[in-house]
Order: sequence, then C-alpha cells, then structure tokens
Amino acid sequence: MVDLIADYNENVPNMSVLPDVKSGYLVKLLPDEAPMEPESWESVCEDFEKAIVPGITPWNSPNFHAYYPTANSYAAVMGGMLCDALGCVGFTWIASPACTELERLTMDWLAKMFGLPEVFQHAGEGNGGGVIQGSTSESTLIAILAAKHRKMIEYDHDEVLASKLVAYTSRQSHSSVEKGVRLAGTKLRLVDTDERFRMRGDELRKAIEEDKAKGLIPFFVGASVGTTNVCAFDALDEISAVSGEEKMWMHIDAAYAGAAMICPEFRYLVKGIENTDSLVVSCHKWLMVNFACAAMFVRDSLDLINLFDINPLYLKHEYENEISDFRHWQIPLGRRFRSLKLWMVLKSYGVKGLQENIRCQIQQAKFFEEMVRKDARFEVINDVLMGLVCFRLIGDNALNEDLNKRVNEARKIHMTPATVDGQFVLRFVVASRLTEDKDIQFAWDEIKDHAGILLNNEEP
Ligand code: PLP
Repeated sequence: MVDLIADYNENVPNMSVLPDVKSGYLVKLLPDEAPMEPESWESVCEDFEKAIVPGITPWNSPNFHAYYPTANSYAAVMGGMLCDALGCVGFTWIASPACTELERLTMDWLAKMFGLPEVFQHAGEGNGGGVIQGSTSESTLIAILAAKHRKMIEYDHDEVLASKLVAYTSRQSHSSVEKGVRLAGTKLRLVDTDERFRMRGDELRKAIEEDKAKGLIPFFVGASVGTTNVCAFDALDEISAVSGEEKMWMHIDAAYAGAAMICPEFRYLVKGIENTDSLVVSCHKWLMVNFACAAMFVRDSLDLINLFDINPLYLKHEYENEISDFRHWQIPLGRRFRSLKLWMVLKSYGVKGLQENIRCQIQQAKFFEEMVRKDARFEVINDVLMGLVCFRLIGDNALNEDLNKRVNEARKIHMTPATVDGQFVLRFVVASRLTEDKDIQFAWDEIKDHAGILLNNEEP
C-alpha cells in the first residue's frame, strides 16, 4: 500500500488534471454485485488501476487551480493509515485516553500558532479550547445550534420567541452558513458588503435595527476570514463590537485563510478575532493535513456541552469530571483519532515548514496577479492577499464563461469560477504544494492562449 501511494503521488504531475471519463463509466468496468468469495489483494489492485484511477481527479496536481486547496502530505497520509490501524474511537477519555489528550494538546499548539488568546486553550483558565470536527460546515452548524440554545436559555425556552430568532452573515459567505441556519430552523438575513466584498459593522448594525423594529431577535453573526468567492476578510473588530452590544454569538469561518494566522505578518487581517465566541480553520485546506481536520475553537465549551450532553449509563466513566469528553462538543458520538495525523504533520514540518508553504503560495499568487495586470485585456477583481486571484477578460459574462470552459476542456489546468455581484469571474488558486513558479507561468500561458483564440475568434 505504501508503494502504491508513493507511485500514485509521484505520477500525479503527469496525470491529466481532469479525468477523461463520462458519467456512469465505472459500472461498465466493475461487476454489479459484490463478490461472493473473497478475492486476492492482487485482484483488488488490478481493479483499482483499471477502474478507479481513470476516474480520479488529482487535486494535488501542480496544475490544479480550482476551489480551495485540499492538503496532501505524506506525514498526514501516514497519520491516517495509523489511525485506521489503531481503530479506536475516542469519544470519551476512557474510550482511548491518548485520543482525547493528544487532541487537547495539538489544539492548544494550534491556538498558540494562530496567536489566539488563552481563553481558546484547554490549558488556559475557563472552559475554552479547541476540538477537531469533520468539516467547517459541521463546525458552523454547531456554533449556530449553540447560539440558538444560549438565546433560548436567555428567553426561558419560549417557543414563540424562537420563531423570531434571526442570524446574520454577508452575501459573500460560504453556503454552509445558510445551510446551518436552515438546519437550525431560524431566519437568516444576508448583509450587503462594501466595495471590497467585506461585511462591515455599519451595514450589520443597519440590518439589525431594521429587523428589531419588526420584532425579530438577533442571535448569531457568521463572519468570514477569506470568503470562497474572492477571499475577502470581514471587518472582525467592527462586527464583534456590534455582536457584543446585541448579545449575539459571533462565529468566524476561517476555513482557508485562517491558516495564514501562523504567519504573524498576516494577523493584521484578523483584528478583532480575539472577541469571537467560536471560529473554525480547516487544517485540511492549507495546513498540510489531509481531509478531514477542521479545528474549531470555542470561548466557552459549556455552551456546547449544555446542548449536547446526554448521558446514558454506557458512556459514563469515573474520570468525566476531570477532563471534558469530546463527545459533548460534537454531533456524532464516534470520532476518528484525527489529532494523530495533525500531530505528525506539526512534528514533521514544524511551524516554519508550514509558514514556508503558505508564504510561497501567496508569492506565487502575486506572481500570477502581476502577469494578469500586465495584460490590458484582463482585469483583477479582488485584493490578492492570499493564494487566490479572481480575474476576468474585460467584456461580458458569456465571454468569460467561454474562456473558463475552453481552459477546463483542454484539461491542462483546472479552475472553478464564481459569480460576484452578477459578474462571472475566473478563480485561480495556488492549490498544490507541488506547484512551482514554472507551473504558474504554464497556467498563465495556457489561459492567454485560449483568450487569444477566443478574442480573435480563431479555433485551435
Ligand atoms: N467555508 C469556506 C470559506 C470554504 O471555502 C469552504 C469550502 O471550500 C467551506 C466553508 C466548506 O468547508 P467544508 O467542506 O469543510 O465544510
């Protein structure tokens, strides 16, 4: 298996960045029933090569510039294998003490690396700390549910008032906030952003005043550190001032860009983060830890425990008053030993290694930005602060949709677009730790060639 993994990874740069298969391809290659008799390992590997590999999109390719990065490192792959081999489910301390204790320790390491105040550390005073959730979406849902519960306690669980609860987030936020609010059964108000796609305190305040005049009750605000569309940073200090005045829960989705807090020079972008009730950074995006590993930090874990603590006899143990069981901090009961791969990554790269990767990818994005800005046919539409450049051909949406389609259909590089204020924009993300400057140049040449053909109406 280790050889298979190493061979696959070494071949990634040679793979087509998008698989050349049509939907339904797999059923034609594999039997439609499970084998009755056990088959050999060789047969498993043969089928893997024949049927699975052709349908794999190599997210770790140096030519993959879509979505946001998904981390891929040998340290994390080995941690994942070891986790599977140990096969323990540490939902309580006693269920596997190392699982809980390593998670507390690595979350404290991360909190310190991010420069978060002690209140978000297990070792600090109070009940705050970090927990590894499966995804950013799950963490945001948990924050919304805890916020609703806290407000309901304030209102003595009055169901009539529950129907008046309203959450706020910006028009640029990730869809997971909307999904979380829908699951929590409350109202959502989308707040307009400024000219740099940031949610600001004054617009939030205006929306809240309008809603309060209608008898609604603000209870939650979801801010973003690095939106998905354009990687915008909401004004956390302004938002936290409003949420404090209104006694709302503030949550920060820092899924991608939050990782950059490990580099002190980028912390100016998150001024005010220290006032939030919760935040989440997906280590599986930009911190070399393979999917999934979402680090969620809460100011007061009792807000989660009050909601999730259900205590059947089979889960009780004699140490539960000494150390908090993570089962009370999450929705499922079972949990993977995810801190193992996180710990192996932190040890193998060190803070410096992780900083280097982030700084290098930001430099590469700036290199790409520079080339786009020098070409008068294009415009850049975002502040390039992290590893994302949003750009477009000066012209209508159809032209840009065409460009995006042509580039992707050629399968040499891959990008995914976004719509921003009605404009179709191309998103270029530096996504793979394997990407070098020459790959950035290659991508730009490829885009330029297609743009040339399109603008001169020439077919290749
Ligand atoms: N928030 C932001 C800003 C994202 O970019 C993404 C995914 O790219 C998510 C949330 C969703 O993350 P997850 O898949 O971990 O739920």
